[in-house]
Amino acid sequence: MATVYRVFNFSAGPAVLPLSVLEEIQRDLVSLPGVGMSILEISHRSAAFESILAHAEADIRTLANIPSNYKVLFLQGGASLQFSMVPMNLLTAGSTADYIDSGSWAEKAIKEARRLGSVNVAATTKGENYSRVPRQAELKLTPGAAYIHMTSNNTIEGTEYKELPAVGDVPLVSDTSSDMFSRPIDVMRHALIYSGAQKNMGPAGVTVVIVREDLLRRSNPSMPTMLNYAVHAENGSMYNTPPAFAVYALGLVMKWLIAAGGLATIATANERKAAKLYGEIDRTGFYRGTAHEECRSLMNVTFRLATEDLEKQFIKESTAAGLDGLKGHRSVGGMRASIYNAFPEEGVDALVNFMQEFERKRG
Ligand code: PMP
Repeated sequence: MATVYRVFNFSAGPAVLPLSVLEEIQRDLVSLPGVGMSILEISHRSAAFESILAHAEADIRTLANIPSNYKVLFLQGGASLQFSMVPMNLLTAGSTADYIDSGSWAEKAIKEARRLGSVNVAATTKGENYSRVPRQAELKLTPGAAYIHMTSNNTIEGTEYKELPAVGDVPLVSDTSSDMFSRPIDVMRHALIYSGAQKNMGPAGVTVVIVREDLLRRSNPSMPTMLNYAVHAENGSMYNTPPAFAVYALGLVMKWLIAAGGLATIATANERKAAKLYGEIDRTGFYRGTAHEECRSLMNVTFRLATEDLEKQFIKESTAAGLDGLKGHRSVGGMRASIYNAFPEEGVDALVNFMQEFERKRG
């Protein structure tokens, strides 16, 4: 296959996919081997698609070592719909849900939950621009809470949990949209995990929900069918037409991840990539990391320069140099390098070189 020009894509999501996966999609797009039709055309009720979905689920289970009492669901509506579905299904009348406010996405989750029931913000670091995640000692947990909600990686602010909070017997719900499968995950310590696919797992259009079976009993049968976890679980994510292409592409990414050695191996690569960037950020003080060192994200590396003018210049010149998507989220400014699983280490090296060159010229 002819090599095509590809920039280094630092986008926070949708984000870079493994080149081999894109090439496989390209090769098989017109006709899936053994099927004679495109993945864009086949019925979701066909044996071929059922097998694609079953394999994607099996590979997710293998990668994260998911026990049999958890269901894996493929849903639509993004992680944002989960902000509503979680409380709709789990926040039963008369109970309170605890939320840890660790970033802008956590704040959005809280906003949606408040529309539906009683919410206690167990801790917040908003007053510190979300530059760190709340510490265990800061959590004010509600005894007997319906669940506690956390965001494992804060995509916009560039912070992550290095360890899960201790929550006792309260079901732990985690939005893992931006670090899912970038490192090993202890599924058994969670009651529900949700993740939009478009960062580490595949293209936009599918959201993976992993839910412990006993929680499905909380879903009220009279709630809207499409928002009911129990319905999706009973129907194997096939109550209605699933996002067939997104599930297919996600399945290829899962295969790629298994072939690459699984979560422990990818975590080592991610640590190495992030260490190179943070090393450069810390080298002279010309750049300034915005997250507290003890909770720096390995996925979204956020940093600033002395002035906004200099930052504008940095974005302009880096983009021209084929380093795309380094502009920080509009709500926080600065720079953000998203370096998900499929982001190549050469791209990190290229950014480090660019940063050194930029400092040499402007420092
Ligand atoms: N949670 C987190 C942590 C995210 O990073 C994002 C998307 N960037 C969302 C939720 C929202 O996801 P979606 O766009 O899939 O609704």
